[in-house]
Amino acid sequence: MVHLVAKGTVLWLYMVWSWGNIKRVLKQGTVFIRQEGKTMSILVTGGAGYIGSHTAIELLEANEDVIIVDNLQNGHKGAVKGGKFYQCDLRDEAFPDSIFGENEIEEVIHFAADSLVGESVQDPLKYYNNNMVSTLRLLGKIKEYGVKRLVYSSTTATYGEPENIPILETDGTVPTNPYGETKLAVEKALKWVDVAYGIKYVFLRYFNAAGAHISGEIGEDHRPETHLIPIVLEAALGKRNSVEIYGDDYETPDGSCIRDYIHVTDLAVAHILALKSLREGSGSKIYNLGNGKGFSVKEVVRIAREVTGVNIKETIAPRRAGDPAVLVASSEKIRSELKWEPKYDDLAVIIDTAW
Ligand code: UDP
Repeated sequence: MVHLVAKGTVLWLYMVWSWGNIKRVLKQGTVFIRQEGKTMSILVTGGAGYIGSHTAIELLEANEDVIIVDNLQNGHKGAVKGGKFYQCDLRDEAFPDSIFGENEIEEVIHFAADSLVGESVQDPLKYYNNNMVSTLRLLGKIKEYGVKRLVYSSTTATYGEPENIPILETDGTVPTNPYGETKLAVEKALKWVDVAYGIKYVFLRYFNAAGAHISGEIGEDHRPETHLIPIVLEAALGKRNSVEIYGDDYETPDGSCIRDYIHVTDLAVAHILALKSLREGSGSKIYNLGNGKGFSVKEVVRIAREVTGVNIKETIAPRRAGDPAVLVASSEKIRSELKWEPKYDDLAVIIDTAW
């Protein structure tokens, strides 16, 4: 009798455990499957920033254990929608013990960085300091605490003036500004870090992140704002008199720069797919992320007029230092290898979510 009760209890416990797992897998869909029997915390540096906060939301929705660190220089506490939050700078002395020591960090998604092309040309040391010194410090701790998987938020500014359009991951990298240069320097360091310590990485080289979370709860909020789409929308709201178009004498059909705009949630999902591939044992990889379509600055303003119904004014201003004429990605590699599919690939939809 005692034997039967014990057997029944074991069976019952097993069913409860299985149902928990099934529910979790159903919730995660096919995107993310965790390893069993382990609390795997993911450290998201810069997780209160624009792309970081959108990625953290996707991770939380996939039932992941998320630790966010952000110095709130560019990020916002209000954009942190869950997980454990630490306000600190990666260069702080207290950084390693308070975060790596208190948590079982198994993976890192590293966003924390300065990311303005124009500012980087004016103040390169700020970029070398924040983007490189911080990352080297983080890497030291990753090695010390035995973390083996890293997704690194890189940029197409690593390519400089492109050799081909659309740009392929195998194309040459000759950055035209300190922002791209510092991101490329970190990529190069990581290659050797992998060789020496077996820390596997995925570099995601992004194009122009744009749009806002579909819930409307978070979006793009840089202060001061320098990015085109929010500036165009500020003009539509009457917060600016007009949009300054930085140069209309580039070698493009309408003379203004062409960029590849990608919805921030599509970017966030790509980080999750990248982590999943590392968990499945794929080696270190580099992927471009764009939606493969280029839009000129003038086209962005025109489409924003259609979306908002406001006759947004534009004026022509001098070129911005460090800006290549055309940046458009080929995302074929990530589409075929990680099955990434952008959901919001229509610029009007992207602008509408931001609006
Ligand atoms: N741009 C512009 N006026 C602005 C802001 C940006 O003409 O007020 C242009 C900028 O020169 C670039 C494009 O818009 O060609 C996208 O710039 P953004 O700063 O949004 O992103 P970036 O390409 O620097 O990552």
